[in-house]
Amino acid sequence: MIELQATMISLAPLHLGTGRKRGTFFKTFDYVPGRTLRGMLGYYLYNNNKDLFEKLAIDEDCDMGKTNIFLKDAHPLSKNEFTVASPIAYLWCKGCYKLMGYKETECKDPNCLQEGTKISGFITKSSLLTGKLEKGSVNKQIDTKCPITRKGHTSPGSDFELSPYHIESIVPKTKFGFNTVLEAEYVDEVKAALREAGIFSGLGGFRSRGYGSVAFKNFKETPVSEVIEERASKISEFSEKLLVTNSSLLLKQDKNSKNSFIGFGELSGENPFSEAVRKTLAQRQIKGSLLVKTDNGKPKQRITESLAGGWSIKHGNKATGLVPCTGPGSCVEIESKSPKALAALEVYGIGERTNCGYGDVYFIGGRI
Ligand SMILES: [Zn+2]
Repeated sequence: MIELQATMISLAPLHLGTGRKRGTFFKTFDYVPGRTLRGMLGYYLYNNNKDLFEKLAIDEDCDMGKTNIFLKDAHPLSKNEFTVASPIAYLWCKGCYKLMGYKETECKDPNCLQEGTKISGFITKSSLLTGKLEKGSVNKQIDTKCPITRKGHTSPGSDFELSPYHIESIVPKTKFGFNTVLEAEYVDEVKAALREAGIFSGLGGFRSRGYGSVAFKNFKETPVSEVIEERASKISEFSEKLLVTNSSLLLKQDKNSKNSFIGFGELSGENPFSEAVRKTLAQRQIKGSLLVKTDNGKPKQRITESLAGGWSIKHGNKATGLVPCTGPGSCVEIESKSPKALAALEVYGIGERTNCGYGDVYFIGGRI
C-alpha cells in the first residue's frame, strides 16, 4: 500500500454540507470530509472508469478488509503544513499560546502567567512537538441566491423551498491537506482521476451554481511500510500515550444497531473500541494490541460528540441519515507494547467506514 498526499486547492467556493439546515441558511464544514472526497472520486470513476471503480472497491460500505482505497478528511493547511484535530486534553496558554504542562494551571513564563484554555479546530502536528500553537483555519463567505428548479438537482434536498437562501462557503484558493492510502498499482490512475474529477465533478453542494471545483498539486507518494516504521519510532519515545481521534469515530454497538457507541468504555461486558482495534490489526495482519487505561473501571478519557453523515455510492450517491458518535479531538490514555501496531492504526483507522475518513486517529505523549 501507498500513502498518497497532495495539496488540494479550492478553485471556486466550496460548500461542504453539514446535513443540517437552519431556516434558509446552509452552513458549511471548515474541512473536506473523506466521505465527500470518496463521493467525488467514486462518482467520477463510476461514469468514466468502471474498471478502476471495481478494482478499488471504492463503494464498499461494510467490510474495510475488502476496500483498496481509504480517503481521509482533508483539513485546512497552516502555512503549507498538514493539520490535525486539536486534542481536547491539551491546554494552551491564553496569553502566549504555549502548551501547558500536565496539571499546570498557569503559564510558567513570568511575563505572562495567564491561565490555560482548550483549543478546538485544527492545529499543526509540529505544534504538538514544539509546544507553540499554529492553527489551520479557513476564510468563509455567505452568498444569497434565488432558487432555480431543475430535475436531477442533487442538493439542496427534497424539503427545498422556493425562497431566497443563503449559502455559507469556503473561499477560493484555500489549501487543504489531501491524504489517502491505496494499493500501489492504482496510484497513477487515481492521481489522473483526481485531477479530472476535481474539475469536472467537483466537491460538495451547489455544483450547478459553480461551486466545488478543486485542483490537486504536489502529489507525494510514500510506501505505507515506511510511514509505519517512521511513526513507530516516534511513538515509542512517548512514555505516557494518548490516542487522539482526528475525525469522527463510528463504533458498532451490535450487528443490528445503526447507532454508534460513544467513548472508549465498556458496553454490557463488551468493549466496542477494543474490538474495532483488534479488527483493523487482524485485517492488515499486524501483531500487537492496545489497552485503554482505566480508573475505577472507567476509561481515562475526554471526549467530544459529533454527528456522522452517511454518503452511500451504492444508494444513488445520496446522503443518508446522521448518527451521533465520538467526535474529533477526543482523547484516551492507552498502553501498548507495540508501537508498530499503533502506527498501523494511524494509517488504517479504527471502527466503521474508515475508507470514508471515519476513525482516523493519531498518538501523542500525554495524560488525561
Ligand atoms: Zn503564556
